[in-house]
Amino acid sequence: MNLKEHLDNPVFPIITSVADEEGLECYVIGGFVRDILLKRHSKDIDVVVVGSGVDFATKVAHKLGKGTHLAVYRNFGTAQVHKKNIEVEFVGARRESYSRDSRKPIVEDGTLRDDQNRRDFTINALALSLNSATFGEMLDPFNGLEDLDNKIIRTPLDPDITFSDDPLRMMRAIRFATQLGFYIEQRTFDAIARNASRIEIISKERILDELNKMILSPKPSMGFLLLEEAGLLELIFPELHALKGVETREGMGHKDNFRHTLTVLDNVAEKSDDLWLRWAAVFHDLGKPASKRFDKKLGWTFHNHNYIGAKMVPPIFRRMKMPVGEPMRFVRNLVMLHMRPIVLSEDEITDSAIRRLLFEAGDDLESLMLLCEADITSKNPERVKRYSRNFAIVRKKLKDIEEKDRIRNFQPPVSGKVIMETFNLSPCAEVGVIKEAIKDAILDGLIPNEYDAAYEFMLKKAAEIGLSKP
Ligand code: ATP
Repeated sequence: MNLKEHLDNPVFPIITSVADEEGLECYVIGGFVRDILLKRHSKDIDVVVVGSGVDFATKVAHKLGKGTHLAVYRNFGTAQVHKKNIEVEFVGARRESYSRDSRKPIVEDGTLRDDQNRRDFTINALALSLNSATFGEMLDPFNGLEDLDNKIIRTPLDPDITFSDDPLRMMRAIRFATQLGFYIEQRTFDAIARNASRIEIISKERILDELNKMILSPKPSMGFLLLEEAGLLELIFPELHALKGVETREGMGHKDNFRHTLTVLDNVAEKSDDLWLRWAAVFHDLGKPASKRFDKKLGWTFHNHNYIGAKMVPPIFRRMKMPVGEPMRFVRNLVMLHMRPIVLSEDEITDSAIRRLLFEAGDDLESLMLLCEADITSKNPERVKRYSRNFAIVRKKLKDIEEKDRIRNFQPPVSGKVIMETFNLSPCAEVGVIKEAIKDAILDGLIPNEYDAAYEFMLKKAAEIGLSKP
């Protein structure tokens, strides 16, 4: 097979001329070739030179001329050439051998074949020649092309060695399967299951990077099911693994919360590409195992699982090296509030409850509604219809009340400072009590969201607790 018509980036003729001048074999390899065949947009160009990658890159950079940036990573024997929208990574063909406690290999110079042997999957080991005599010709020693056609993830060499050498490849296998909708060949999958415990030598950051790519796939449930089946989920995300299973007592079972969570995640993924909203779906029921009770009359209950789940968010974010700023706040808030619209829609929908939801959700409201709608996974069409109808009413009410009262992100119109000045107080508990009472009065609709009304109310409330203006 020859793919030269796809090598239309202006950098390729320059690479070819350096390769010919130097008399060195040179290939574009890996994800770039795979993505041409999958008709995916590929960003990185990786080039293997049978010789010194750094020297080669230096010559290419020189030919590219003004405005070219060359970054050399001597420790890794790689170099990156960058000019405008061209970015190419060069590496010398190498042979790798590993020790047991590290994913950093011992590296020696090698042939193209050695270099293809060290690649993780057959579909990532495809190479196209860049030398002029054979320009565009494919070198596919492991039938990667056939695996691409058959949608198969398979390691080029013995999978036990491949995964044990660099256990990150286990995450990559599952991530590629999820991203591309591929099947992991049985022998390869069995080796992942056998080597799962090796994941401990991989940094949390790299694991998270793969999880994020998985979650951003069209059907992210696939990734979590594979992680679970391989025994990896228990090691990297035990709280999610703990949702698995169904307990039955006195003939009453509850749903499998792991399956349910994955359905919610897929539902969210159909509606939104927001990484953190998708993560919120993953987290939303994590409090269920700790809150699970059996009651003879009520059956299984999970009271307060949303609060318990919200408390679990920060320690998990820290452990998994997720960003603890705004994304953590957002996920925590959504986990905490995820029952609210459902409870609302089951009761009579009061203005006061709507105002409280607007206040607590603030700018997260749209995401929250999306998560709640995705959370309806009942198989009973009547129930689904009823929930959908009620949600539509909740949405309408939210809109009406927001337009009327402007509660979202509101700050009570009388500040703590005004309270302190009026009663000549320094910061103390009473200030907080009055401020909270004003906020509640507005949210409950006792007074409008306006300064004068709030001021009047403040005087009344202060009198009740024995304060008066000096
Ligand atoms: P993506 O850009 O979606 O992550 P990619 O395959 O281009 O996909 P990179 O991480 O850029 O991923 O890797 C480029 C190539 O390097 C891969 O196609 C593969 O040949 C090789 N590679 C990357 N990581 C590994 C690894 N851990 N073990 C073996 N080969 C790897």
